[in-house]
Amino acid sequence: MRALGSGFTTYGWAPSTAELARRAGLDPVDILRFDGNVPPLPLPSSRPAAIAAELARVNEYPHGGYPRIHEAIAEYAGVEPENVVLGAGADDLIMLVARAYSGAGDTVSVPPSPTYPLFRIAAQLAGADVGDESPVLTFACRPANPTGALEPIPEARPLVVDEAYFEYADDPGAVGLIDDDVIVIRTFSKLFALAAARIGYALASRDGAAELYARQSPASTLSVALALAALASPPDVAPVIEERERLARELRALGYEPLASRANFVYVPVEDPQVAGEELLAAGCVVRVFESAIRISVRDREDDDVLLGALAGEAGSPMRRARQSRATTETTLRVRLGLDGAGRVRVGTGAGLYDHFLEQLAFHAGFDLVLEGSGDLETGDHHTAEDAAIVLGEALDRALGDRKGIARYGDAVVVMDDARATAAVDLGGRRHAAVRIEPDPGLASHVLGSLADNARLALHVESSGTDAHHAAEAAFKATGRALRAATRSEGDVLPSTKGVM
Ligand code: PMP
Repeated sequence: MRALGSGFTTYGWAPSTAELARRAGLDPVDILRFDGNVPPLPLPSSRPAAIAAELARVNEYPHGGYPRIHEAIAEYAGVEPENVVLGAGADDLIMLVARAYSGAGDTVSVPPSPTYPLFRIAAQLAGADVGDESPVLTFACRPANPTGALEPIPEARPLVVDEAYFEYADDPGAVGLIDDDVIVIRTFSKLFALAAARIGYALASRDGAAELYARQSPASTLSVALALAALASPPDVAPVIEERERLARELRALGYEPLASRANFVYVPVEDPQVAGEELLAAGCVVRVFESAIRISVRDREDDDVLLGALAGEAGSPMRRARQSRATTETTLRVRLGLDGAGRVRVGTGAGLYDHFLEQLAFHAGFDLVLEGSGDLETGDHHTAEDAAIVLGEALDRALGDRKGIARYGDAVVVMDDARATAAVDLGGRRHAAVRIEPDPGLASHVLGSLADNARLALHVESSGTDAHHAAEAAFKATGRALRAATRSEGDVLPSTKGVM
């Protein structure tokens, strides 16, 4: 094997969640990663059905390439399909461009430190040196990792602009310059939440793209299918931007001075980044440590509040929380539950009516709940609604921990117009469900029964009315109210309500 140049260091991947949990002495479900700059959850489009057709012919080579994704990316980016080059993530395209443009004896210019290390690594692997003296190729990063800054586009040519965080920047980027010796690199790992699929693209002039393709190996059909599904309904970036600004405000309120960011992370100068990183890890929050700062990915309000709480030195993390996921051939669901919540509830599985009922239940229980995912709704909402109840039940069981010091019993009566529901619950640990909802819109009794069974609780519900929707909704609300009473912590063995937003 040919030796790598002296002084070459490889890209250091961050440790696994299991490894970090071991170091912190925590359960892996309590580790929150603020170091990857990826969304906290997959998009609803990345469900098993999105790749089912491709799995059925996974034995085949992708003869003829992937014209559909070229068209979809071209439309998304405002170019022609011939301008698109696919790669296994932006990383693969950085490597491709470096080896296409540079080799032994050449100099490649990369942004000053701190920057994304792969520009240097790619240049060195291509055999080139890194420097600013007559470079054969110049890399720029807009928005910049790790600072989040959006610097002007350099004049140098040929120029590669890494736009991994383009969607968060509210800026047209460099795509208008592809016929002026500029190559733009983007990814599906960030806004499109497909980091594990390893897919990204470059945008270049027709000739440039053809030259790059001559040096590129083919993409994965499964990853292409996931990217196509994501492009069919691009997510809204606005909530991420809003949360980024909220996180920055809260950090400033704690006395930190995060740099203005145009990406999905904030760069926060701190006195001793290593120590700050260790302290946050002890609270389950993993950040990226730099020489004079930490970089914090924007996740979402609930997760970011855990980090802010840890930075504020709030004693321990409120452990009456649980995360759970459930993947079957029919559904893929993820749940995040906090018992001492503020009623921040979002349920989106596609099983419309039952999403609404579970939201009502969690809201009236005073939980924070995010339950997201998708199922095979093609065959009705049965699997999805049932699995949502199962995964929520499992999370509730887990969040209750050893169940010491809780009220244990709770009951409630709820009326809704024509409907009247009573619910009584015992969290003692024995499973029993006696649920009667008349009329039942379909799965209401079954869903509450599955929830009780998987949460290891005894649940008695009686609900009746003239309207099935009302009878069911009253039953879910009453169950929520009963749970609110039963999950209340009474002893001082459990952490107090964190509550207030
Ligand atoms: N470029 C930059 C600036 C990045 O921050 C990252 C991700 N950490 C990448 C490229 C790599 O993206 P991908 O997952 O598409 O390889």
